Amino acid sequence: MATTQTELTSHDVPEGASIIAVENPATGEVIATIPAVRPDDVAGLVARARAAQPLWEDAGFDERCRILSRAQKWLLDHEQRVIDTLVSETGKTYEDALMVEVGYLASALGFWVKRAPGYLKDERIRSASPVLAGRKLVKRYRPIGVVGVIGPWNFPLVNAFGDCVPALAAGNAVILKPSELTPLTSQLMRECLLDCGLPQAVFQVAPGYGDTGAALVDSVDMVMFTGSTETGRKVAERAGRRLIPVSLELGGKDPMIVLSDADLERAANAAVYGGLQNAGQACTSVERVYVEAPVYDEFVGKVADKVRGLRQGPPAGAASVDVGAMTSPEQVAIVDEHVSSAVQDGARALTGGHRRAGAGNFYEPTVLVDADHSMTALREETFGPTLPIVKVADAREAIALANDSEYGLSGSVWTGDLAQGEKLARHVQAGAVCVNDVQLNYFALELPMGGWKASGLGVRHGAEGIRKYCRQQSILVTRFAPLKRDPHMMPYTRTRTTLMRRLIRTLYGRGKRD
Ligand code: NDP
Repeated sequence: MATTQTELTSHDVPEGASIIAVENPATGEVIATIPAVRPDDVAGLVARARAAQPLWEDAGFDERCRILSRAQKWLLDHEQRVIDTLVSETGKTYEDALMVEVGYLASALGFWVKRAPGYLKDERIRSASPVLAGRKLVKRYRPIGVVGVIGPWNFPLVNAFGDCVPALAAGNAVILKPSELTPLTSQLMRECLLDCGLPQAVFQVAPGYGDTGAALVDSVDMVMFTGSTETGRKVAERAGRRLIPVSLELGGKDPMIVLSDADLERAANAAVYGGLQNAGQACTSVERVYVEAPVYDEFVGKVADKVRGLRQGPPAGAASVDVGAMTSPEQVAIVDEHVSSAVQDGARALTGGHRRAGAGNFYEPTVLVDADHSMTALREETFGPTLPIVKVADAREAIALANDSEYGLSGSVWTGDLAQGEKLARHVQAGAVCVNDVQLNYFALELPMGGWKASGLGVRHGAEGIRKYCRQQSILVTRFAPLKRDPHMMPYTRTRTTLMRRLIRTLYGRGKRD
């Protein structure tokens, strides 16, 4: 890709800002240099956003959704440019860029355009309390103001820009702080929205380092963060000082449970895809597989054969490679550490097990066996192209091991008995569990997606995925009030207090008790 220059205007980028050199992780080549937004300049961006937001809110759903619909068309019209930008700054394959990133965003833009007005319309509430008879009760949603979205490097569209879409649809102004490793796709999406008619300051991109993200937390009205659990905790603490809401999508260590009656061929293909797509750099990657003893050898054989047949290397267009580069050099070191220490402690790598020699950040797709929960490869988020497979005696042991984790993002259960599969899914301690599929729930935008335990707070997708960008307001209207003074109002008298006591006992004292 030709060296691109930032789309930021001089207004966005103050003089003296430091420079970010964006590298292609598959080649090591610098593909762009862009100015970083410094922490001190974030408040200025937020002030511009704050000034622009009321008009955007007042524009209403029709106008906002019109612009987001145009963005969906723009995305597909400029698909090749978007894919080239994604591939060159992340090192991912053409298919990961097309099917996961562009596919997700095209679907999400359509989804929020269609669903935002319904999810955020006023709700009439009925109260069971006789005290409220005759009152009108309404719950309504108002955009929160300026939302800061802080994104990671693994999915610049899905995990960073994707969260801006419902925030914008709800009527907020948004400032996106992409990872400094991958700012170019976010800038391209700013160009997209401006081309589609979005007012300048309603969506701004603040390329920068961690301290720019921290400064954003200090000035916006709400933070949507995706990234590591460690940084997520810092963001939550910082937001807590200001009492602003945060939504956190953090790390995962997703288990896959394969029972003896599963379709092993399909399960093996899903394990390979779920563990290695995006070079394993997905929060919902299959990070560990538990297989019932009777089918363990056959399953491992199938997975290892399939992984041996995969092509890895610098992506060069459609179907050129199956596994791309890893985006962050630090992440390659983490993967190497997890695998080498597991092997040192007795695990075996049936495939891979090493960094790939030569240019670029590549780690060979690695199937690990004879690994156990004393190893970091099974306890910590590896976030790379590895698949540790563990033999278990039965479903009970599989569930116990699946839940033996500080994380709880998602997981899967594989069995020919659907009722048993659903029952087991309910025992997995994770925000989303698929039966006989992996990761597909992420594309069910109607379903909430969020982590339990150290995997996060709050959800994206579903009604809550847009309501979180709003303040809720409850309105009570007393339309008809025959009394000038209701019985609960002062001054108190013995007679009325006695009457009220009787009333409370009559209303609430006759319930069925165990
Ligand atoms: P981080 O969590 O550190 O970074 C995520 C985003 O937060 C980046 O934009 C980063 O900026 C920004 N940031 C960093 N420090 C702060 C701060 N104090 N306040 C506000 N924002 C901040 O992820 P890494 O990129 O360092 O990856 C580390 C680990 O996180 C990986 O090893 C992997 O396990 C996990 N991870 C999980 C992801 C997921 O989807 N759940 C995605 C990516 C990583 P900058 O990058 O510019 O420093």
